[in-house]
Amino acid sequence: DIIKKAFMEGKMLRPGQELSPTETEEIGLLYETVINFVEEEKKEEELDNELVDYWNKVYEEQKDSLKTRPPVVTVMGHVDHGKTTLLDNIRNTKVAEGEEGGITQSIGAYQLEYNDKKITFIDTPGHEAFTEMRARGAQATDIVVLIIAADDGVMPQTIEAYNHAKDAKVPVIVAINKIDKPNANVELTKQQMVAKLNLIPEDWGGDTITVPISAISKEGIDELLEMISLVSEMEEIKCKPNGQARAVIIESKLDKFLGPVATVIVKDGILKTGDYFIAGSTYGKVRRMIDDQGRTIKKALPSTPVQVLGFNEVADTHSILYVTNSLNQAREISGKKKEKEDLANQNINKKHVKLEDFMKM
Ligand code: GDP
Ligand code: MG
Repeated sequence: DIIKKAFMEGKMLRPGQELSPTETEEIGLLYETVINFVEEEKKEEELDNELVDYWNKVYEEQKDSLKTRPPVVTVMGHVDHGKTTLLDNIRNTKVAEGEEGGITQSIGAYQLEYNDKKITFIDTPGHEAFTEMRARGAQATDIVVLIIAADDGVMPQTIEAYNHAKDAKVPVIVAINKIDKPNANVELTKQQMVAKLNLIPEDWGGDTITVPISAISKEGIDELLEMISLVSEMEEIKCKPNGQARAVIIESKLDKFLGPVATVIVKDGILKTGDYFIAGSTYGKVRRMIDDQGRTIKKALPSTPVQVLGFNEVADTHSILYVTNSLNQAREISGKKKEKEDLANQNINKKHVKLEDFMKM
């Protein structure tokens, strides 16, 4: 096993080979670290799986009472292709149109209404985050808008982003951006979609919805929103509309004034002020909820992004928040997780024997 592991790390060893002290230590640490890491992950996963199983059962049992919820959309693409500009301009036009008093964007996601239908946009994707969200059993994103600048074409991060979306089996809408620029080339961009992503635009006989837009002049943005509505209708995005909530954490931090806070998107049920919850290895009580316009709200429905105050500690980003029946239950479940974690940490400390200790033995 050690030879195999070392080989994977680029080190060739033969049975019976003599190792230098440094090599011994290196390989020892490598091996223990790998084992501990795997064990720790497994334990965390076991508990999460219990909860995922529970929710799958809920879904099965309540199949008939499931309701559609608004889509959660993430914009992904190569750097400088216009993600931020697009999100800002959609928010400024659409949210400002519907809401009194303009916008005070306070959290990393927002919701708007388009033709009386809600759409939630996540503002801070990060590719790594995206894959991890998938791994935890409830994914944060329902639709990906893959943005490609028409003056730059398909670039490495375009391909990477698309691969993540494909792995997660999330439907992709392509937005070809910056069509206002004189050197924009929509046709060439489409050719690259075919050649580099194997995506064939609808108007070329394929099945990839492709919308030419300008995030700056706002041309094509209505059509893009229209396509998002269309895809979300086809996808039948469902939720459990009532009862205890579960939510994905998309952002988590220690706020100087507010303490540990997290931005979550409710996936099921209704999240309420006063609810007890667990999230990863921490727990808490919803002390206050702040919506995407900085307003304090008491209830958050499925697909609503809210900032939650009242975490015991800073939660892991991308963990799932589950509402529990009581503080005791929240403590108990998170205590179980903590115990397992502490045990794993102890083992790491025990196992990380320094070379000097070996010499003494
Ligand atoms: P991000 O890295 O994907 O978030 O890209 P940004 O939104 O920061 O945009 C990068 C640059 O491209 C900025 O200077 C934007 O003003 C510009 N940009 C974005 N969208 C458009 C567009 O539709 N047309 C033009 N001409 N410039 C754009
Ligand atoms: Mg940006």
